[in-house]
Amino acid sequence: MTTRAATTRTSNAEARATTSSTKGRRVLRLLGPGLALGLVAGVLFVSGQSLLAATPQRVNEVEGPVGECQGGETAGYANGRIPRRVLCPVGETDQGSAALLRADAAAAFLSLARAWQADHGSPLCLRSAYRTHKQQAALYARMPDVAAPPGASDHGWGTAVDLCGGIANASSLQHAWMQQNGPEHGWIQPEWAQATGSRPEPWHWEYVHGPGTYGG
Ligand SMILES: [Zn+2]
Repeated sequence: MTTRAATTRTSNAEARATTSSTKGRRVLRLLGPGLALGLVAGVLFVSGQSLLAATPQRVNEVEGPVGECQGGETAGYANGRIPRRVLCPVGETDQGSAALLRADAAAAFLSLARAWQADHGSPLCLRSAYRTHKQQAALYARMPDVAAPPGASDHGWGTAVDLCGGIANASSLQHAWMQQNGPEHGWIQPEWAQATGSRPEPWHWEYVHGPGTYGG
């Protein structure tokens, strides 16, 4: 790991700590000053761990290292309703639209894209990244057998991509390259999307720290 990676990870952790304390303040205001003092002491003694973060529900939250683009807090937003300003750009799709991902997924995707470029001498073909609720609804209306219902796709969390340029064919060399190299950069196929899965989608890849909800 370079110093820079370590630094961004630290600032990311700081960003999360800040958010937790913001949430904390909100809760404390509701409970009143006496209880608040006790709670503050309690939180201070839990070294590095926020009590409020210990929720069993998987949320859409930045988990991995981030690169140049820090993005913003995504946890408070619903699937497909994340503002563009808190996501990070990952170039263009093969159809010329700007592609966005959650900050950590974006950093991992750019790392993957660099490795692809180095091995193939051509850019990694990206068909689709973050999709808004509206975009997912339109896709589902057009292809209900292939697309997940709006609100149920990891594309709506900014942690999934659809790839092209040969990868969409499960028996291609390009797909084999992704199987071999994707995981090293944090990109995998969920079981359902694999050739032996319930809904094979060789083009659909997810970032390992995504919520892993369902659906392409
Ligand atoms: Zn997909």
